Amino acid sequence: MTDENQRINLLNMTPHAARGALVEFFERVGQPRYRVDQVLRRLWLNPAPSFEAMTELPKALRETLDAAFELPRLAIAARQKSADGTEKFLFRLADNEAIETVAIPDGDRVTLCISSQAGCALQCAFCATGAMGFSRNLTPFEIAGQVREMRLSDPPIPVTNIVFMGMGEPMMNWKAVDVALTMLNDPAGLGIGARHITISTVGVLPGIIALGQRQEQFRLAISIHAPNDGLRQELMPINTRYPLAQVIDAAKVFDRRVTFEYVMLGGVNDREEHALQLAKLAKDCRAFVNLIPLHPGGARGFSPTSPDHIRAFARELRAEGVEVAVRKSRGVDIAAACGQLRVERLGRRPPRRAQHDDDVQVA
Ligand code: SAH
Repeated sequence: MTDENQRINLLNMTPHAARGALVEFFERVGQPRYRVDQVLRRLWLNPAPSFEAMTELPKALRETLDAAFELPRLAIAARQKSADGTEKFLFRLADNEAIETVAIPDGDRVTLCISSQAGCALQCAFCATGAMGFSRNLTPFEIAGQVREMRLSDPPIPVTNIVFMGMGEPMMNWKAVDVALTMLNDPAGLGIGARHITISTVGVLPGIIALGQRQEQFRLAISIHAPNDGLRQELMPINTRYPLAQVIDAAKVFDRRVTFEYVMLGGVNDREEHALQLAKLAKDCRAFVNLIPLHPGGARGFSPTSPDHIRAFARELRAEGVEVAVRKSRGVDIAAACGQLRVERLGRRPPRRAQHDDDVQVA
């Protein structure tokens, strides 16, 4: 009998690596080669909830597979639907940590906002995830598994776009995000086009460089939120480590067009001088600017900029020759919008705040 813990998780490796493991296994047990593709298809593309459910395979083979390999699920602990159709999922992980995922339908598209860490270490002043502290990095399976669960849902949720804008800082977990990107994009994986996958970061430079080195056209969004170091420092402690000028330089050499995220904080970062400074930064690296209304639930002490004033701020940017969009808020009634994701921790460990070099995992 194979011990449960020794089974190999086929969902925590790239489809290419899973194929290798299956080829070797099927040779060993004397099964025809075409079975490999049958199983591979049921990992991500047309996912099966278990080996048992792969009824196209002989029963004995399903049992042999189940003894050698693991096909884990992410457990949905709660599911909430907003009046605007946005849906929020709470996943409970094997070690009891929890993460949130948000599905946002918009016309023909469904964008899935996925998490890359349980909690977040960055402590941005306006964000609820930062307030819960950092628990741990997610594995590649736990990241891409959020999308797999949408395909397994009844009825399936047909995800067309992915944004790494849920809980956590993807570039502080680059090793796992790197593998997860392959699972999401590979035609033998979930097969989602690279241009439909956006990684959002506060500006962790090694991660931006690593993403730029990938051949696929993944998109990059940078959370700017303040157009000068003084103000950015107050709002985003990470700015000490990666100051604005360096982030802009990294965006300049990134070979695809970058998007700036800018959350509108009433009386804090929404004056005309801020628009002019932001326009200069955006023009420096040909960035597209997304203005995000402030959502409640982050730290207290901030108030949203009024919709009229956001429009005026957008006009100022446009007058400077910058392309800009005002983001629609989705799922605010179920606390599913940007910056609202947080879950109660069950463990007793205190939240981690420190930013050490070893938190940045670049392959
Ligand atoms: N750590 C990454 C990924 C999280 S993305 C990053 O920061 O880019 C979540 C986005 O929502 C970020 O742009 C974040 O700054 C923004 N956000 C955080 N709190 C918010 C709030 N209260 N209202 C609106 N947007 C917020």
